[in-house]
Parts: sequence; structure tokens; C-alpha cells
Amino acid sequence: MGQVVNLRPIGNRPATEFGIIYGPITNRPQINNLPHAALLKPSNLEEMNAPDSAQASVFKRILLKPLAFPGFAQALSTLTNTRVSIFMLHRFSVPASDVSGHDPQTLRRILSHLRKMRYNLVSLQEVFRRMREGEPLQRAIAFTIDDGYFDHARIAAPIFAEFDCPVTTFLSTGFLDRKTWFWWDRTMYIFQATKRTELQACLGNDKFVYRLDSDTARLNACLDLNARCQDAPEADRLACVLHLSREADVELPVNPPARFAPMSWDEAREAEKRGMTFGPHTVTHPVLSTTSDEQADFEITESWKRLNAEVSRPVPVFCYPSGRSRDFGEREIATVRRLGLWGAVTGEAGKIRSDRFRQPDATPFRVPRFYFLDSLPYVLQCVSGIQTIKTQIRRVVA
Ligand SMILES: [Zn+2]
Repeated sequence: MGQVVNLRPIGNRPATEFGIIYGPITNRPQINNLPHAALLKPSNLEEMNAPDSAQASVFKRILLKPLAFPGFAQALSTLTNTRVSIFMLHRFSVPASDVSGHDPQTLRRILSHLRKMRYNLVSLQEVFRRMREGEPLQRAIAFTIDDGYFDHARIAAPIFAEFDCPVTTFLSTGFLDRKTWFWWDRTMYIFQATKRTELQACLGNDKFVYRLDSDTARLNACLDLNARCQDAPEADRLACVLHLSREADVELPVNPPARFAPMSWDEAREAEKRGMTFGPHTVTHPVLSTTSDEQADFEITESWKRLNAEVSRPVPVFCYPSGRSRDFGEREIATVRRLGLWGAVTGEAGKIRSDRFRQPDATPFRVPRFYFLDSLPYVLQCVSGIQTIKTQIRRVVA
């Protein structure tokens, strides 16, 4: 018998204890709504979800509310010398397919505000081009989406097109080629489908026992195992999922169930016509730092090759799966450089150092992005530079 994992119930808080719930934060546990992003704990999100201290409440009253007033966020961005912000999004709400995610109407409201305030909504490639060529950037915002799910083409592409806002989606090409579906979706599928009320998971030499006596317990168990898997070697993670499916007596379908499905390449090409562009995000979405030299090279090289074969305007910027600083290293940067790509984006929040872009260090290959939340004040905190300052202060204090 393995270690029994005592998970605290989510109760009236969102599942951010173990990960992230996309879109509007509700009090309702959403078991169908965790996956990839749920694995990440970007620093900016931890801060957003930290309980307010008295000082934080005062800060919010005097500074955050006026952020939506015309000119205020822009003035702050000048003060903080924030010239460009890149956001990353994941899934979009599709109630009919039981997918929860970013709320379309909230996204429209945020894009409409950014347009009204005359932010420069530019493509990721244009951001990189200007930084490479030393051209000025002012109040520039770029949007990116990770992974290549069907909702990115069917829901997100039309919304961004409505506002004539460029958006780049990073594709795991093996997912679009229907050769694989994501491991965090598999664990979700197993935890939802199993009839067992207790389930043992094996990860490497570790064993965990989860009690599954409610939806909340299943959700917490899945989040807990996903977080553990994220930091495990690739082989152990894949073996864990296979073992879990046997223990749970749940057969994993070869093709993903509808809600976990990718867009097709035809849909990608249609989305391209609406203004969406596509960048490489590996073939199978491993955490690259946990893979062999051969696999790391294959994942980066082959995804760029497949992208070039399928879409007409591939974006020469790579996106590291999971994207924490420990999830990639010099080896991956060397491969991205060798392919002639312009750089790469991470999943870490922080200030984009466009002033260092032309120096011979790895700055263009470690470009940070802000996690996107369905909240205008939060988005304005990011683009005004306030979020970066908060992150820096917390790093110093911690
Ligand atoms: Zn991803």
C-alpha cells in the first residue's frame, strides 16, 4: 500500500491551491477544467490568488481601480518603462462540449477596452521583429495560445478576428497529427471515468493512494497527481498514466474524447485566414528538460518541420512546454538557435528586456509571458508594469 495522500477539500476556494482554473474564478470545483495550465503555477497567478493583506486591500483601492480610467495605465507603463506585454491563454469555454475556459464575452470586453485605449495589439512575430531590429515598441500587446485544442480555432480565432487582434497559437504537432493526446487529459479522463472509490498511483518508486468519494476529491486527486507528474522524468510520467488506467479499470481511447480533441490542420489553415498564426510547441509536449538529448532535439526540430509543411505562415518563435525556467535549458536553446528560429517564449511572468534583445546572450530565447486571466484590472496591471513590480517585490521579500 502506498502513501495515502490527504488532500484538503477545495471548499469555497478555486482549485488554485494545486493549480489553476481557467477563466472566471468561481466557487464551483470544475473537474473538466484543469489540465495543462493546471500544472503550472506561474508566479503572477500565485500572487493574484494570494489572500489580501490589509496593505494589499489599500493598494487595490487606490491603484487598481483607476487602472481602467483613460490614460492611467498608459502613464504607469511609461513610469515603469513597460513597452510590451505578451499574454498566454489556454482553453476557451465551450459548454456544449463540456469544456470550461476563458469566457468569450469577458475576452471580448477586455479586447474592446484595449482597442478603445489605443494599445498596439500586434502579432508575436512583429514583437520579435521589432526587438531584433531595434525598432521602438510602445504600449504593445501580443496574445498567444498554447497547445492547439479545437476551441482555439473554433472559438478563439473568430473572437480575436472581431477585434482585428493578431494571435499566435503554439501547436504540439503530434496532437494535431492525431498521434497522441495529452497526458494531463488522460489522467483527467481516468479520474472522471473510474468506478473505483480509491485509486493507487505509481510514479517512479513512489506510490500514492487517492480516495475518490466526491467530485471534489476526484478533482483534487487529479490535480495532485498532475503536479507530481509534471516534475517526474518523462518515462515515469507515461508509465504512471498507463498504470493508473489499469488500476482504475478505465480503457484509454486511442483518439481523444471530443472535449480533449485538437483542431485539425484544415481548421488551422482556416484560422490562418482569420489572422491566427502558428508557432512550434514540440511534437508530444514533454517537459523537455526531462527528456534525452535525442528526444529533445526531435521534439523541437520535427514540430518546426511539421508546422512548415502544414501552414502557410509559421511563426519562427518556439514555445517551451510547461515553460518554467527549469523545464528547458541551454540544450533546448541551442537547438532552437540552430533551426534559425528568432527566439522562444516561456511560461514565466516578467519584464521583457527588449533593450537586451540584440546582445549575444539568451534573452530572445527566454521571453516571459503573463498568464491571462478573465479580469480587466489584472490585464491592466500586467500591461502597466504593476504586476512585474509586484513580482519583483515578492521575490525580494520571499
Ligand atoms: Zn503547452
